[in-house]
Amino acid sequence: MKQVVIIGGGPIGVEAALYGAMAGLDVQLFERGQLCENVRTWGHIGLFTEWKRNRSPLAVRLLHELGVELPPQETTSSGDELADYVGQLANLEALRGRIFLHTEVVGLTRERVLKSDFADDPRRVQAPFRLVVRDESGERVVHADCVIDATGVYATPNPAGNGGARCPGESANQSRIDYALPDVLGRDRERFANRHTLVVGSGHSAASTLRSIGDLMHDFPQTRVTWVVRRDVPPHGAPYTLAPDESSPQRDELHRRANEMANDVRVDFRPRTVIDDIEYSNGSFRVVLNTVEQGEVRRREIACDNIACHTGFRPDTSLWRELQIVEHPATGGPFSLGEVLLTANRRAGVGLSTGYAERQTTDLKDSEPPIENVGDERNDERLLLQNEPNFYVVGIKSYGRDAGFLMQNGFRQVRDVYKIITKNTDFDLYEGTLD
Ligand SMILES: Cc1cc2nc3c(=O)[nH]c(=O)nc-3n(C[C@H](O)[C@H](O)[C@H](O)COP(=O)(O)OP(=O)(O)OC[C@H]3O[C@@H](n4cnc5c(N)ncnc54)[C@H](O)[C@@H]3O)c2cc1C
Repeated sequence: MKQVVIIGGGPIGVEAALYGAMAGLDVQLFERGQLCENVRTWGHIGLFTEWKRNRSPLAVRLLHELGVELPPQETTSSGDELADYVGQLANLEALRGRIFLHTEVVGLTRERVLKSDFADDPRRVQAPFRLVVRDESGERVVHADCVIDATGVYATPNPAGNGGARCPGESANQSRIDYALPDVLGRDRERFANRHTLVVGSGHSAASTLRSIGDLMHDFPQTRVTWVVRRDVPPHGAPYTLAPDESSPQRDELHRRANEMANDVRVDFRPRTVIDDIEYSNGSFRVVLNTVEQGEVRRREIACDNIACHTGFRPDTSLWRELQIVEHPATGGPFSLGEVLLTANRRAGVGLSTGYAERQTTDLKDSEPPIENVGDERNDERLLLQNEPNFYVVGIKSYGRDAGFLMQNGFRQVRDVYKIITKNTDFDLYEGTLD
């Protein structure tokens, strides 16, 4: 029986384990933290996709068979509720004894084979994968015929500094900067109430933090924000372009609130601005902002209490070091998928990092489908094939720095990986109900 190892116990890794187990394969999943470790770090945030897009047909069928009552399809949840749901899947009989929590994969190669050996040579596939896993009792070796990398991107945020590299002072103050989404209305309230926060970025995470700070301002009117955004404001004058074809009311509301925040007197909104320097002393940051105004660079210094750095994430490719994986030069994810993502984004008129929030109204056409449906070629199963045979990258990591991944894309990838592994193009445990 084929041995399949899945690295990462997020929503897509657990789906991959469940699917593999139901396919009758010998599946093991290693998760370095608790189940859904990454999702738990933003557990207080609401998802913008509804349950119907966050659960696979296979998972729903298995839970229904057990009589589990699930929240209605059209409703949404918090990250914590999503993680609880994934916990229900992990407890299914099919996965008993197959999930190893607090077990990190720290090394990945092939038995007695180097990265430089056997390029494009069938002898490479004859050597099983060799993984070094570490848990509280130490390190051990696990072998596998196939490896599915579902390790996500959330643990490797992009820096705040100019050009995506850490600016002077950023490394020294890394532990003081909020790269993960702070719980502004909950456990981090004290830190934000009546304080001055620098918010960096213009994706969904920045909008989320701005919305929460906006809510906090009702009770704590001295709360202030400086919001810096690298790009320019579209001609319609608001940071986020509201899409007439928006498929998610939650996302629409999020962007509307962020646009309102840009006009709030307590918010100093600064487009075309990057961060050149960060210092910290006596409980306060001093940050040097670099803004292009009328073609000229202007530097100004601000003092603030918090820095919420929401500049996106990048994949940690260190696990691939001994494998033959071709990385895309822009996404940092696998090459072929990266090419397709760039083409789809170009066609939709958006950049790689912020998705369609930055879409220009002039680019919007009534007939245009929402971006998550633009370019179905992103779901072409051949994009899952790597130079490294029997190695697959699924989930949000497969999109690299592209912010457009949704769990639905991950379920398709899981289905298609097992078509490849079982060498059966008709093999579909979703029974044709996903698309
Ligand atoms: C604030 C926020 C809101 C979002 N809202 C939505 C939404 O509404 N809808 C949607 O579809 N998506 C949303 N996303 C994207 C969402 O994160 C992903 O869809 C989903 O979590 C991706 O799952 P994943 O399994 O690919 O990765 P992750 O959830 O990141 O899981 C990866 C797992 O791998 C583990 N891991 C990493 N390295 C190792 C290692 N070496 N060994 C063992 N384990 C390892 C990690 O601990 C982690 O548990 C949102 C993201 C954020 C940040």
